Amino acid sequence: MELGHSSYPRRKTRRITVGDVAVGDGAAITVQSMTTTKTADVEGTLQQIYDLAMAGCDIVRCTCNEPEAAEGLAQIVPRSPVPIVADIHHQHRMALAALEAGVQCLRLNPGNIRKPAHIKVVAQEAKDRGVPIRIGVNGGSLDPELYERHGGRVTPEAMVESAERELAYFDEVGFDDVKISVKASSVPLMIEAYRLLADAVDYPLHLGVTEAGPLPGGLIKASVGIGTLLAEGIGDTIRYSLTADPVEEARAGRALLEALGLRERRNVDLIACPSCGRAEIDVIEVANQAQAAFGDREIPLQVAVMGCVVNGPGEARDADIGIAAGRNRGHLFVKGQNVAVVPEDKMVDALVEWAEVIHEHGVEAALERAKATRDAARSAAERDRQSLLAAQGSDANQAEVRIDRIRHTTRGT
Ligand code: SF4
Repeated sequence: MELGHSSYPRRKTRRITVGDVAVGDGAAITVQSMTTTKTADVEGTLQQIYDLAMAGCDIVRCTCNEPEAAEGLAQIVPRSPVPIVADIHHQHRMALAALEAGVQCLRLNPGNIRKPAHIKVVAQEAKDRGVPIRIGVNGGSLDPELYERHGGRVTPEAMVESAERELAYFDEVGFDDVKISVKASSVPLMIEAYRLLADAVDYPLHLGVTEAGPLPGGLIKASVGIGTLLAEGIGDTIRYSLTADPVEEARAGRALLEALGLRERRNVDLIACPSCGRAEIDVIEVANQAQAAFGDREIPLQVAVMGCVVNGPGEARDADIGIAAGRNRGHLFVKGQNVAVVPEDKMVDALVEWAEVIHEHGVEAALERAKATRDAARSAAERDRQSLLAAQGSDANQAEVRIDRIRHTTRGT
């Protein structure tokens, strides 16, 4: 399998379109997030939407919880760079107002808009306007009747039944422009609910672990839940629900899809060694500096920061561009080939400069650029490598010394 490309077979689904973004039926899996501003604050919300779009977000949801929010949406939607979904809870009239504002999708929670007449009037209006609806079941706000009937617990079966009941109401008005989510804050629960749902319906699915929480736990829960399902071919659009700046949600969603090979790389994929006794630099600090230097720049390359020239270039030989530290200098390598040597305090600048060259002109051009320096670079790297091996030996992490001590302790010798 080619690096960075997925071989996970995708579940066959129908397709819907949210504005101009396709969801389902083999379309690129999309990243969603939600604004945290008051929707009535038009400029503040638009600023956040632009930030989210820059970070790789394809679709943005805004709450529509009051008439002022709906009025805000009427101004936000025409100026937004991505389609807008209105999040509706409790009041079906806010769904009708959001449709009037021109949103490209609604999210309805079947747990808190429960009157069939209300659900059907919204579905009819969405149908007339050609606007899709996400049925957004949430374990924490499951319909109380379903909760009781399923033993006073939130079960995968109860969540799927909630979605199916909503589908049946939609069906009564001939509306099927739908995607569905069955989110829970428990990862095993949401995984099982989505698996059941994927077997029961062929609508596209929106994946998420709801209320995943702050970093790093929230990131881990969402990645495991969403990633497990994506690797099974389930899921057409995703959202990380983190207690963090929504831009982090968009970055995380995008990074997950890229890591699974489900979206083309958009930004730098920064890899770095975990550091060890051989490290010649503070790898964490240099990696953080590199991360900040590249930021959200659209340079779709893999960039490596490696702590030593002894093992770094070999371990990161697949990276497009990398740097490994040795004897107070940095050894730059392109696809594993040494190309230049730079002072230690210029390592990050050099990474950025060479990444730009590769991005604009390709790897071959970068190697051509290094024609005059690569022989010297290779010799310098080998000299530093031998010098470090001579100074540190082949056991720089002192594993063998420790093993001797362990044997001494356990054998009492
Ligand atoms: S051996 Fe070198 S490249 Fe590997 S973890 Fe240690 S410092 Fe990093």
